[in-house]
Amino acid sequence: MQFRNFKMVDYVVYGRGCFAQVDEILAPHRKQGLPMIFLVDHFFKGKPLLKEIPLKGNDKILFADVTHEPKTVQVDALAQELKKEFSSVSGIIGIGGGSTLDLAKAVSLMMTNSGSAADYQGWDLVKVPGVYKVGIPTLSGTGAEVSRTTVLTGPVRKLGMNSDYTPFNQIVLDPNLIAGVPTDQRFYTGMDCYIHCIESLQGTYLNQFSKSYGDKALDLCREVFLTNTSWSAESDEKLMMASYAGGMSIAYSQVGVTHAVSYGLSYLLGTKHGLGNCIVMQHLEEYYPQGVREFKQMVAKNNITIPQGLCKDLADEQVEKMIDISLSLKPLWENALGKDWDKKMTRAKLKELYRKL
Ligand code: NAD
Ligand code: ZN
Repeated sequence: MQFRNFKMVDYVVYGRGCFAQVDEILAPHRKQGLPMIFLVDHFFKGKPLLKEIPLKGNDKILFADVTHEPKTVQVDALAQELKKEFSSVSGIIGIGGGSTLDLAKAVSLMMTNSGSAADYQGWDLVKVPGVYKVGIPTLSGTGAEVSRTTVLTGPVRKLGMNSDYTPFNQIVLDPNLIAGVPTDQRFYTGMDCYIHCIESLQGTYLNQFSKSYGDKALDLCREVFLTNTSWSAESDEKLMMASYAGGMSIAYSQVGVTHAVSYGLSYLLGTKHGLGNCIVMQHLEEYYPQGVREFKQMVAKNNITIPQGLCKDLADEQVEKMIDISLSLKPLWENALGKDWDKKMTRAKLKELYRKL
């Protein structure tokens, strides 16, 4: 048996206020004349956080437009802009939600790899390390801070640049940065973590490594979204660690039905990942009966309204396209339903499911 040998994040700093250490952390990675590029979620335009960014010399802040999920063309444009202005850079520091973190990872890789980010969508296609990269989450749930992928929508597929060069060199986990996220956004991104746990813990790829992290992340999600739903500084700390542990859990297993279906939805309709997962999850009693029951309790307890009827009026060819995208994600289906998954999940069955969303 061949065991997977996973590349993880190199350094992790955790703690309320640890963002203040970024200057010191970056110092040894600064190269003569080459700037640090802070790729910051556009939500922070004009916000006080900008003043705390430790700019030096020709460092630059670039705002990441995350109105839509990251695209390969967006990554290519950012990398080209930087290469045009500077021969190279000392590093890329992504500050934001999962979309900004993914953009930062991808731009770091495209500073050194030739061609387009679309050429590297897949598994282990990236051959050269990117420039030094740091991830600083301001939303918690996706696990993008720990994962070895960066999910991008390209000309033909929505697929990550999965590689040993993709994980961050450094992550900075400061719970202060996720304070004040609007309730709906906090829930949708938080549920991404909850769903990672359910899909990992009920998958056929499960092992003790994944289970240990998944069990802990699930407990933390329950504390945040079921037991004590009013906001507190402590719940932000729990959510931040849930995201980390949930990401570690799927790093050594895989996600499942919710993700496989929601990828089709977001490819075709542009539905954001967290929300898309919530839309799908509410209809998956057949696959995750307990998880769906608990998910619905969380929806009710947090006063969230999940959209309905997204796909009922779509043309047949649109649904067929979503089915193509979904069924191409073989490892997700295999994890969820076992080796003979294609006998259990037929096109007709998936069509019925999409029509319900
Ligand atoms: P997001 O990054 O798309 O951001 C959602 C919204 O929240 C944006 O409008 C953003 O501007 C805003 N925002 C960010 N920080 C905020 C803050 N502190 N306060 C208020 N608003 C804030 O949302 P997300 O759910 O974190 O990430 C989703 C993305 O992550 C998708 O593109 C998905 O594909 C990706 N993803 C990646 C991985 C991975 O392993 N690489 C895993 C899961 C999801
Ligand atoms: Zn996810």
